[in-house]
Amino acid sequence: MLMVCEPTTQKKLSQASRTLELLEVGPRTTIELFAVGPRPAAYVRQLRLMGYIIHSEITGKVATYSLLGQVEMVEVTDAMQSRYYETEHWKRTRRSRLDFDACACRLCGSAHELQVHHWRYDLFAEQLCDLLTVCRTCHLQLHSYENVHCHFPRYVLPEIAERLY
Ligand SMILES: [Zn+2]
Repeated sequence: MLMVCEPTTQKKLSQASRTLELLEVGPRTTIELFAVGPRPAAYVRQLRLMGYIIHSEITGKVATYSLLGQVEMVEVTDAMQSRYYETEHWKRTRRSRLDFDACACRLCGSAHELQVHHWRYDLFAEQLCDLLTVCRTCHLQLHSYENVHCHFPRYVLPEIAERLY
């Protein structure tokens, strides 16, 4: 899931634009987007131009949209998400990023309680640059400071879902 906050400052505006750019070339499996703010209609228009189809909408400040295209997406269950982190692919990819960062948090240097942060999700196809080694504390801070949040996709393509059953 990607979250875009209504731009109220130039900084936020550039971050929101960057997210939309990311979506254009972004992971095919990141398909749910929350537009937060008083005027989500602007995002709706832009998302439609980008080929997104509205999946569901909550009136008020939050609206959700999914990249459904012509393909029926499969909703991700907690069990499927857990299984992803148990796949050989993820274990190998996670190990690669930890090795790349010499097993230390890239933000504070700690070697304790290391986790691998996702900048973007591309299930079964993450690149090293999609990830970052951080300690648990920095990981929590990273998420609380971020204007743009990437979370495990809520819907995936059927071929991805098949690998998670
Ligand atoms: Zn840290």
